[in-house]
Amino acid sequence: MTSQLAEVGQFCPNEACEFYQDLKQARIIRYGKTAKGTQRYQCKHCGKTFVETKGTLFHGKHTPGKDILEALAMLAEGMRISSISRVKGFKEDTVLRWLREAASHAEQVEAVLMDNYQVQRAQIDGLWAYVGHKGRKKATPRATGGAHSGAAR
Ligand SMILES: [Zn+2]
Repeated sequence: MTSQLAEVGQFCPNEACEFYQDLKQARIIRYGKTAKGTQRYQCKHCGKTFVETKGTLFHGKHTPGKDILEALAMLAEGMRISSISRVKGFKEDTVLRWLREAASHAEQVEAVLMDNYQVQRAQIDGLWAYVGHKGRKKATPRATGGAHSGAAR
């Protein structure tokens, strides 16, 4: 494992953990699944739980998924794209592109942001609002007891 990104489930992503990103000593166990069916893991050392990101848009990108997720989390927390661009050193266009891609994998990205980054539900909604995507499908109120549409013409 030199420059390759380790798979989630092989190391602890908690920076405060003694075995943070330590592939050799980490003891990670499977820890159930999220409501959306994403595999969740727990570090046996610090007890932190996290979800897998493999298979999402971040897999195989030049920029580590961690950086992309951090940028999205910052955005969700209300930071401006221009600020994130300055702090993280990414182009604004790049951050926006990630956001658009993230929106197309909304369920997985939501699970990761909420589980791994403690981003709140309302903040996630704000995040999708940037790209005009509804993270959750809103239940469309159905007209009940009405006549068939187009019947009276
Ligand atoms: Zn840990």
